Amino acid sequence: VKIIATVGELRAACDTARAAGKSVGLVPTMGFLHAGHRSLMGAARADTDFVVVTLFVNPTQFGPNEDLAGYPRDLGRDADVCRAEGVDVLFTPTVDQMYPTGARTTVHVAELTDRLCGASRPGHFDGVTTIVAKLFSIVGANHAFFGKKDAQQLAVVTRMAADLNLPVVVIGCSIVREPDGLALSSRNAYLTATERAAALVLSRSLRAAMASIEAGQRDASFVRDELETAIASESLGQLDYAEIVDGADLQPISRIAGSVLIAVAAQFGRARLIDNVALVVSPTGITADLGVIPAVEATPT
Ligand code: AMP
Repeated sequence: VKIIATVGELRAACDTARAAGKSVGLVPTMGFLHAGHRSLMGAARADTDFVVVTLFVNPTQFGPNEDLAGYPRDLGRDADVCRAEGVDVLFTPTVDQMYPTGARTTVHVAELTDRLCGASRPGHFDGVTTIVAKLFSIVGANHAFFGKKDAQQLAVVTRMAADLNLPVVVIGCSIVREPDGLALSSRNAYLTATERAAALVLSRSLRAAMASIEAGQRDASFVRDELETAIASESLGQLDYAEIVDGADLQPISRIAGSVLIAVAAQFGRARLIDNVALVVSPTGITADLGVIPAVEATPT
């Protein structure tokens, strides 16, 4: 893996790859890589010839009282993970490199960003879309891989790419979970053992919501109340939201039908965690993406 820290070098490396007839795959991350990130790298490796992973803890997507300063970092280990995954380039820019004159220009996707995480993290998605637009522009025409764990982010980035006619195919990858159901997240590193046990309420309550829908429940507010009650019953958790929304526009729905996203967010100690299940409910059946549990962790070499 080649480690690159400047925009100019990254652009040149991607241009060279494309000139050699290679397709370019982009995996944007904030580092402290885990099996969720690795699944994105695997998808990029399978779909494209030249895989670029970016590692940038983007200050503009953090609120003033959020965890920017304490966000977990381990560049040495991250480079090992990228090497083990056959990544071609790991881009690790400084804040000055990405915002040499500050952050005056922003990309804003309306409506999709004002609900769910956008409601409790004002400005967050503008930070995300701006940095992702910059990465798309630097890396050039490519396939870009995002996790469904951040379902709203995936929807917003997909919308941005379509609305701005960016030459990028945005691909969503299933949520990677621990064997006990916890969705992998770099922020899980903040959890104490008791908080980690408490955080299982998120995936457990989502599975319970799925079970009641599979049993025929179609009243979204009923299922939402069940989710809220389950999460609120966990004293170590502080519920941010439990919502059932349309899978495309993320608007709250009253009847569970078609493409549906069930999304939850809660604070456990220092960690604000999110989780979700995406499902399609049709008269003939229900398909759901509950996520995947990877085979035994490969130790990076
Ligand atoms: P982050 O480093 O947390 O900003 O995440 C970088 C990318 O990895 C985003 O597209 C996330 O959605 C994705 N990701 C994070 N956790 C998971 C997970 N458990 N499963 C699948 N993708 C994930």
